[in-house]
Amino acid sequence: MDRSNERRQKSSGLPGCLYALAAPAYAIRGLAALFRLIHIWRLSRNGYVECPHCRAVNALDLLATCPKCHMTEFGNRLSCGGCGTLVKAFPCEACGVAIRIF
Ligand SMILES: [Zn+2]
Ligand SMILES: [Zn+2]
Repeated sequence: MDRSNERRQKSSGLPGCLYALAAPAYAIRGLAALFRLIHIWRLSRNGYVECPHCRAVNALDLLATCPKCHMTEFGNRLSCGGCGTLVKAFPCEACGVAIRIF
């Protein structure tokens, strides 16, 4: 009985230690998510994205179909109002080259 209690006490310190080691990774992840949100927010506020290939201006607010749930709706093409999917890229309306958002 004594031995098993001792073992339990020793092992109980391990998860906390692991969390401390993982904390910087979580912080970096959190920062990356924050920068991505700011990026999306800026794009959404501008309402358009310039094609890196032909420089055509592609509107973000239009009738778009979600690639995941295939719901078609007017609004921001970068995020689906139905399932919440974030669209990572879409084809340029002028030249068809994929425009990467993330
Ligand atoms: Zn969807
Ligand atoms: Zn283009």
